[in-house]
Amino acid sequence: MFPDAVTFSTLLDDPVGKARLLVVDDQPINIQVMHQIFTGQYQIFMATSGQQALDFCRRTPPDLVLLDVVMPGMDGYEVCTTLKADPVTRNIPVIFVTAHTEATQVTRGLEIGAVDFISKPVNPAVVRARVKSQLTLKFQSDVMRKLVFLDGLTGVFNRRYFDQQLGMELARSARTQTPLALIMLDVDFFKRFNDRYGHQAGDDCLRTVAQTLHSTLHRPADLVARYGGEEFACILPETPFSDAMSIAQELESKVHQQGISHADSDAASVVTVSLGVAGYSGNSPIQPAILLTLADEQLYCAKNAGRARTCGCLFTDTLTYPSKNADPSRSIP
Ligand code: GH3
Ligand code: MG
Ligand code: MG
Repeated sequence: MFPDAVTFSTLLDDPVGKARLLVVDDQPINIQVMHQIFTGQYQIFMATSGQQALDFCRRTPPDLVLLDVVMPGMDGYEVCTTLKADPVTRNIPVIFVTAHTEATQVTRGLEIGAVDFISKPVNPAVVRARVKSQLTLKFQSDVMRKLVFLDGLTGVFNRRYFDQQLGMELARSARTQTPLALIMLDVDFFKRFNDRYGHQAGDDCLRTVAQTLHSTLHRPADLVARYGGEEFACILPETPFSDAMSIAQELESKVHQQGISHADSDAASVVTVSLGVAGYSGNSPIQPAILLTLADEQLYCAKNAGRARTCGCLFTDTLTYPSKNADPSRSIP
């Protein structure tokens, strides 16, 4: 649902000015009128049939649809009903633009999920004002939906979103036979850090670690989540195991380079992290829990081997669970 890693700062951008509007009308002259009203203000896309509109919305959901009611073939009511029934297009606000604004028709439109009605012939000032207020509401509710999936302390995704995405990405990986890697990461001797520097400094440290992970992963599909306490998880779609190992080592060294003093750590004089990498080749279906267990075992292995390091293992069908996969001889230190 949110292909880009989201942080609070991006949520605070004002997106209304960059909005994408779809104008649907079987009469090109009506589309032309709307185009003139909004040109330079928003990106305008057009569709001259209900089917074209649905295809566009499924492929690249716009921020708002201005929808004609009377069209040959599929009419506006049917288009709106179909949009509202599909999770991908459900949240796109629909405004009907029509010459028929009798009470029964308006009521029917609102009941099937439209947010407003605009009467034809249109008054440019009224159309602009109504569209702007609906876009503002749309972006506010987008922010609310995203907040549900963000960790309040660090601004990266939360466990709920991570669980949902891991299932989805693994299914996609198996379908397309592309590799995927999972990284579990835990701050070393963090209890001692809190004990020495205080809980507030501990929170600041977690924020810095989260931000470091977020800025080190480059691909839009990569995902960072706070898994719990001082533990983070990264999903790297379309990433072979050997690449994931290099990325994990880079994450480890980037956190190290932040130079956050940790006088009571046995691993270094600064805050460090231990990482467990589980690779999946995409060759056979796999349960998310299996890959999580494998990554967890590798994290345990990195802790046992002295912390401030990465251990990893590529999933194969011959591994058994629960297992002794954390045996250092099986993993790549
Ligand atoms: P190890 O190297 O084996 O991971 O040792 P550790 O001390 O990091 O692990 P342990 O599980 O013993 O302690 C984790 C600590 O993390 C304890 C807990 O108070 C702290 N912690 C968990 N969540 C938060 C948080 O949100 N803020 C702060 N400041 N501390 C947290
Ligand atoms: Mg018409
Ligand atoms: Mg720890």
